[in-house]
Amino acid sequence: MIWQVPVNLKQIHDQGRDYPWPRPDCCMRCRNWRVWGHGFVSRYFDEFDEALLLKCYRCPLCGCVITVRPASHFPRIRSSRQTIFSHLQQRISRGRWPPSPLARSCLRHWLNNLRRRIMAHLTSLWGLGVLAGFEELLLRGQIPVARVS
Ligand SMILES: [Zn+2]
Repeated sequence: MIWQVPVNLKQIHDQGRDYPWPRPDCCMRCRNWRVWGHGFVSRYFDEFDEALLLKCYRCPLCGCVITVRPASHFPRIRSSRQTIFSHLQQRISRGRWPPSPLARSCLRHWLNNLRRRIMAHLTSLWGLGVLAGFEELLLRGQIPVARVS
C-alpha cells in the first residue's frame, strides 16, 4: 500500500536513513493502532543520480506493508507532477516540447497516455482540452499520464 505525504526529497537524499519520516497513526488497511518500521525501498527520481531510500512500515496484525511516497510525484514515475504538467503545458501552448533532459519518447508517452485517458474517461469534457483533462483526471484519483490498462 502506498501512503503519499509531503516530504523533502533533497533532505531524504542528504540524510538517508536518518530522515525523520512521518509515521501513520494506524494501519491504513485494518486500522490497527500501530505499525512497525519495516526497512526501506530504493527508488529513483529525476533530480538525483542515486536511488533514494523510502521508508516502509508493516502492520503486525494484518501484515500490510505501507510504503511512503512523496506527494510531489505519481507512483512509479520518476518525474514530479509539476515537471510533467509544465512539459505538457509548453507542448500544448507552443506546439513543441521545451528544452529538457527528459527523453522525447517519455514525453510523448505521457501525452499519448493522457489523450487516451481523456478519450476513455472524459468524453463529455473533450472540448476543454488536454490540460483541463489532466486536472480533471487528478480530481478523479487517476494518474493522468499512466498507461491506460
Ligand atoms: Zn493492519
